[in-house]
Amino acid sequence: MNTLDAIKALPKVELHVHTLGSLQPSRLLSIIREEGINSSYRTIEDIVQRFQFTDFTHFIEVYAEIVGYISDEKHFEHIIFDMLKKCSECNTHYVEASFSPRDHLQHNLEFSRMVDAINKGIDRSREMFGIETNIRIDLVRNSTQDEANEILDYIAKNPHNIVSIDIGGDEDKFPPKPFAEIYERANEMGLHLVAHAGEASGPQSIWDAIQFLKVERIGHGVTAQEDPKLITFLKEKQIGIEMSPISNLRTGVVKSIQDHPIREFYDKGLLVTVNSDDPSLFHTDLNNEFIQIHEHLGFSIPELFHLSMNGIRTAFIDEVSKTYLIESFTTEYRQIMDQLE
Ligand SMILES: [Zn+2]
Repeated sequence: MNTLDAIKALPKVELHVHTLGSLQPSRLLSIIREEGINSSYRTIEDIVQRFQFTDFTHFIEVYAEIVGYISDEKHFEHIIFDMLKKCSECNTHYVEASFSPRDHLQHNLEFSRMVDAINKGIDRSREMFGIETNIRIDLVRNSTQDEANEILDYIAKNPHNIVSIDIGGDEDKFPPKPFAEIYERANEMGLHLVAHAGEASGPQSIWDAIQFLKVERIGHGVTAQEDPKLITFLKEKQIGIEMSPISNLRTGVVKSIQDHPIREFYDKGLLVTVNSDDPSLFHTDLNNEFIQIHEHLGFSIPELFHLSMNGIRTAFIDEVSKTYLIESFTTEYRQIMDQLE
């Protein structure tokens, strides 16, 4: 086995992946045709062309456009199944799939029907690929408190497989503080707490997510590199940092992979993981993320495996499941190392 094949064969964990950001062009085209939607997209190539991002604003624009095409809850079963099939091709064993219901509630889809469809896709992928998946609900940071509370009400009624909340979206316009009470309520409901922070905005956004939302993990956290005190704090508290190098490259958060702080964070002992964020929109997957940081940031195979183990450590699963994953990952890892040329 050569190095690249070994990297692809490594067992992996995906903690930060958006369901809609995994919508494959072929699936989108079939939805457009099935629903008879009037669209300028005639071919898969048209959609692939549209998924070329120039910056973060353009990305948000395309994302909103895609949301508009999902006109029936049933599509989520297929979208998440496609996503988990791709995950299994990267030898990913555990996934936390992010889902933003607010976007779709605005298009008159029902929360419980969407979550039921997602769970059908999850069940099917467990049977076919042996992949375990939990759901993380993105409350979306431009929501009002009432809207966010409404989503928590829905989760209380239909909690199946939902393990955490998150806020994604425009960090500068919508800082974390107004979500403090929402996060407190989610915590009381037994949900884990994550926030996108330090992606498009500076380190204060990360401090605020920690102080006001009491998050256990940070999505992205790239701009922590500007603040040595924050780096020390993140290390001491071992707050999980879900990093997505290719996403950051595509949206212009970093100029090149070589500029990505994952190497520095890892070397300083931060609890970092690697994730694909919006794999379909960013033309990536977990194999590619691993290969890119191997080639451009010098992550060795043992270090990449360590990133997978970090994923297990910070996953929102019970200790029994963690122990099981650690053992099975270790066995797979030893087999890979034995076969390495
Ligand atoms: Zn994200």
